[in-house]
Amino acid sequence: MLEKVVIANRGEIALRILRACRELGIKTVAVHSDVDRDLKHVKLADESVCIGPAPSTDSYLNIPAIISAAELTDATAIHPGYGFLSENEAFAERCETSGFIFIGPRAETIRQMGDKIAAKKAMQEAGVPCVPGSPEPLGENLSSNAALAESIGYPIIVKAAGGGGGRGMRVVHTQDELADAITLTRTEAKAAFNNGTLYMEKFLGAPRHIEIQVLADTHGNAVYLGERDCSMQRRHQKVIEEAPAPGLSQELRDMIGKQCADACKLIGYRGAGTFEFLYENGEFYFIEMNTRVQVEHPVTEFITGIDIVKQQLLIAAGEEMTLRQEDIQLNGHSIECRLNAEDPDNFIPSPGTITHFHSAGGPGIRVDSHIYSGYRVPPNYDSMIGKLITHGDTREIAVQRMLGALQEMVIDGIKTNIPLQARLMADSGFAKGGFDIHYLERLLAEKD
Ligand code: ADP
Repeated sequence: MLEKVVIANRGEIALRILRACRELGIKTVAVHSDVDRDLKHVKLADESVCIGPAPSTDSYLNIPAIISAAELTDATAIHPGYGFLSENEAFAERCETSGFIFIGPRAETIRQMGDKIAAKKAMQEAGVPCVPGSPEPLGENLSSNAALAESIGYPIIVKAAGGGGGRGMRVVHTQDELADAITLTRTEAKAAFNNGTLYMEKFLGAPRHIEIQVLADTHGNAVYLGERDCSMQRRHQKVIEEAPAPGLSQELRDMIGKQCADACKLIGYRGAGTFEFLYENGEFYFIEMNTRVQVEHPVTEFITGIDIVKQQLLIAAGEEMTLRQEDIQLNGHSIECRLNAEDPDNFIPSPGTITHFHSAGGPGIRVDSHIYSGYRVPPNYDSMIGKLITHGDTREIAVQRMLGALQEMVIDGIKTNIPLQARLMADSGFAKGGFDIHYLERLLAEKD
């Protein structure tokens, strides 16, 4: 088993990793920025090291500082969480060359899946269905780009090969818009991801976002843990996630799940991962793979009873998975609401001190959050301050529990999106389930 793990992240996921380590008897090291010394996991960890000032580039993205902290504390492994360096191949490689186990796939896999063009190519070869699109990076020649778009058929979407976080993509409806769209997206992609490589794919009009959770060990075993429906999105960012996806048949689940598990074996995947798909008219279209634990992993944990973060740690320790596909059963329904420190009307971040916090609780309720009364939400990072997750025998019970939990939760001193989440839980379209990725934006537009 791993002896000591550096938690190279912050907030709720850092606490989540700490909990899993504790259960496995693994010692923990919290690395944090100077504004994060009061984070809960920093206080609970066996050791902590300040790795730099507040800006992420100086702390949570500071590879030499994190490696030094691991050396200083004589750690065995490094868990990157999500975001920050979790999908950074250079970091994964640096961990391994410095003698630490990177809790995630091999650097080579991160590189391959981080380039969305290469990822799609690998998945196509593995027999996973993909969105029709350009097989190579877009060149500068307008007429060949126009011919490509024509062959795919408008509307198309221009996307950054190195994109993430829902940024670096633009929908194009006609040829007149194409040249400007490519130029603008390239400029944005260069600025945001330091990589101007673009590709093109068919823009699906009303798909759902359905993703498959996988686990693969270093002994050639790979399993799928069912799917999550993450169609409730604003600006391509997930707001609510649930599992299983309403209306998806067991037959389709097994078909796509098996393809993902087989693809893991083919690419030598290691650890937890997610295959993201758009799902329209009964067809799945691969869009990308996330080579890390995801924000929404708890809904899968609720319905399968499998601790995904513990599995990551066991796999990283080189243990053979005892889980077999036939043992994985889905029980009931689970929903996750992301709680953000933001104005629910205009989505402007609302950092500040939480004057009073009272958590929700009761049967089928899980709260993954680092906040407490007196905690100051710094303005420097993502506005997510926690996740409220519910479970019930049916989707209706999970929704009822979420409504109750949202009402119980008290977070004073800052604005949060709880009112928006409560509105969505009571919404008739949400109650039906199976809505597409544009549902929330349409709903918000109606209100304005
Ligand atoms: P990111 O890595 O930034 O999350 P993704 O490729 O996963 O980017 O896409 C994020 C979201 O953008 C999807 O969930 C979907 O809402 C939208 N999207 C991406 N590709 C397409 C497409 N081909 N057609 C329609 N919507 C798309």
